[in-house]
Amino acid sequence: MSLPGLYIHIPFCRTKCPYCHFYSTTDLTSVDVVIASIVGEMELYADEFDTFDTIYIGGGTPSLLTIQQLDVILSGVHRHFHIPPNAEITIEVNPADGDLAWYRSLKNLGVNRLHMGVQSFSDQALTFLGRRHRAEDAVAALENTVRAGFDNFGLDLIYGIPGQDMQSWRESLARAVSLAPPHLSAYQLAIEEETPLWQRHQRGSFDIPDEDASLSFFLETSAYLERSGYHHYEVSNYASSPSRKSRHNQKYWDHTPYLGLGPGAHSFKEGRRWWNHRGIEGYLKDLAAGTAAPVAGDETLSREDLRLETLFMSLRTARGIDLAAFRLQFGENLLKEQHTIIQPLVDRGFIVVNDERISPTTRGLAVADQLALIF
Ligand code: SF4
Repeated sequence: MSLPGLYIHIPFCRTKCPYCHFYSTTDLTSVDVVIASIVGEMELYADEFDTFDTIYIGGGTPSLLTIQQLDVILSGVHRHFHIPPNAEITIEVNPADGDLAWYRSLKNLGVNRLHMGVQSFSDQALTFLGRRHRAEDAVAALENTVRAGFDNFGLDLIYGIPGQDMQSWRESLARAVSLAPPHLSAYQLAIEEETPLWQRHQRGSFDIPDEDASLSFFLETSAYLERSGYHHYEVSNYASSPSRKSRHNQKYWDHTPYLGLGPGAHSFKEGRRWWNHRGIEGYLKDLAAGTAAPVAGDETLSREDLRLETLFMSLRTARGIDLAAFRLQFGENLLKEQHTIIQPLVDRGFIVVNDERISPTTRGLAVADQLALIF
């Protein structure tokens, strides 16, 4: 089993995007207190976790922090835990933040991977999404990334935006590919309940792609990026080479332990999952009391829960299910015991099977969550 990963949640944003359902606040008055508390939280886990070989600073918008604030966090990590020299250290960046000097300083702090929320290269789409950057900011930010010496970075794109047809989506993909990011993530716009975008959708202000159109976007994205030299290695993720896959995210997909620090962060170890208070107030209150971690809830996964999650997460990756590992963990020979389920899925082109693995095809990745439920 690989070493655990560390996730640090920065719950602040300068503005709130109308489609976003993640917890974050635009009130920046408590940034320093939260940072100090995250470092305090590390202390509480110093006996339980020893070494992390990936660190992921996400949010929210971690790029609104100054270099000094990020230094406080990363110095805290190094004081409390062992971080091997080859660790992957990622930070999420909003293209509107940071100049070249900021990117260079990030590199000096030891950050070696950037994940940029570009979302679109169309200003019209960015306006619809309520993003605070323009397409030219994204291009400039990616140029700064390269000039600062980062060779491991990725960008997020969103498709299925109202007004976006296949041609304009292809143009966004072409623009992204022309900037040669080693990693790309492409997500369909999700209308999450109770968000401002959901309210507008309820009022009938715009239409979103139906199931057939969504599938076309998904298949075209995969085909376009594979033709452009990217490997479609997870439902939404593409890498230019195996070394440019997200090592941190891999841990979420194969039940490697991870520790999440900060408001709303989730953790997992030895079949137990726990999560912190989402709100800053509750998070700070528990930490100020100084007795216990700011945990809002937890669950212990049963063997059946773990089995289902393993199927879910494995079928979301191109590698698919490792049959020997599955047999070892759950005592189940899938090829033998689920033969009547597996063969029709092979015949319909959703999965491919060999002695070692059951792997989803691209069409299978498009319906990966449903596939897991069939087993
Ligand atoms: S910047 Fe990211 S986390 Fe913040 S509101 Fe927008 S989508 Fe949500």
